[in-house]
Amino acid sequence: MRVAGAARRRKETGVTSEAAPEPRRPDPSALLAWYDCHRRALPWRAAPGETPDPYRVWLSEIMLQQTTVKAVAPYYLRFLHRFPTVERLAAAPLDDVLKAWAGLGYYARGRNLHACARAVVERHGGRFPDSEAALRMLPGIGAYTAAAIAAIAFDRPAVAVDGNVERVIARLHAIDEPLPAAKPLVRRLARALTPQHRPGDFAQAMMDLGATVCTPKQPACILCPWNAHCAARARGEPALFPHKAPKTERRLRRGAAFVVVRADGWVLLRTRPQHGLLGAMTEVPTTPWSEDFDARGALAAAPHLALPRQNGQSNTRSGIKWRRIPGVVTHIFTHFPLELVVYVAVVARGTPAPGATRWAALSALHGEALPNVMRKVLAHALDGVAPRPHNARLSPAQAR
Ligand code: SF4
Repeated sequence: MRVAGAARRRKETGVTSEAAPEPRRPDPSALLAWYDCHRRALPWRAAPGETPDPYRVWLSEIMLQQTTVKAVAPYYLRFLHRFPTVERLAAAPLDDVLKAWAGLGYYARGRNLHACARAVVERHGGRFPDSEAALRMLPGIGAYTAAAIAAIAFDRPAVAVDGNVERVIARLHAIDEPLPAAKPLVRRLARALTPQHRPGDFAQAMMDLGATVCTPKQPACILCPWNAHCAARARGEPALFPHKAPKTERRLRRGAAFVVVRADGWVLLRTRPQHGLLGAMTEVPTTPWSEDFDARGALAAAPHLALPRQNGQSNTRSGIKWRRIPGVVTHIFTHFPLELVVYVAVVARGTPAPGATRWAALSALHGEALPNVMRKVLAHALDGVAPRPHNARLSPAQAR
């Protein structure tokens, strides 16, 4: 039976060489002991002996989706200061939430965050449910996030498999099947490892091991509590795991953005449609973003600006001089890269805003729900056109 079991396990885990020794099963308690000494201090993480706050756990997990710990930490602290409880978040206008979210990207998550806070207050009296099934019924909470909250906030033996955990499991078992096809196998193996004792700490320990020791390029196997049990290490090249299927090409979209600055230091903005990419966020007027964009016809889509009213009459002659800023603004969305050419025009004070647009003071741009791509556009356009407001937070470095 042992031989059959080992052979089956080798087949399942991709260890196909009969000469390869069968690694012993990793011991969860060894990882927990490592975690007790080496856990990361994260702003949302409860200290040893403290009861985790489900609101903070949920907030951090939503913010961390497809974003790094380093990038999230300052946003998390600002956001928590602004909305310290789920009730305060639920009661806030969506626009305020999106403004606080601006810069984190993936704005559908910002909208879902607000909807989820409302659902927790309305359906659960302000207390997050403690089961994966009930958590998954809330807006914006998928399988991974439900498992992470159940494990971390409520110490449930839920299996939260993020990129770090995927890598650790793929290496421990030297899984030859490439991701994402290997995800179900990774999940089964992760479940088999999860202990009933301290499952919340175990989930965080797996994440920390992947983030600090079992890193993508150069895993520090010598420091790993499971190095005697790791099949990839036994093979000699752990960094080759996990194998990944080749990425499908994401096609470049292009377009033009129009930055209109009024002589008294106001800029023309509009709000994107409620749903879809960057829904309800703020932007400068642009052409559609498409793969077959033709820059030669771009100005046909520029906002039509009338001259200021004189003697109570609007002067419909435009007379706007557009200037193309050299270079392009690039931005990478999940499904496509974007390249924008930027045109700038300076108009007289008193110029009316065309329909569906509005003027906003440059000095107040930091309070607008501007996604990163628009911060880049404004930074690109305003260098040399208008004095940089000290608090507009629009330098290219910051806008990245
Ligand atoms: S021994 Fe190395 S490759 Fe294996 S799990 Fe530990 S750090 Fe990762």
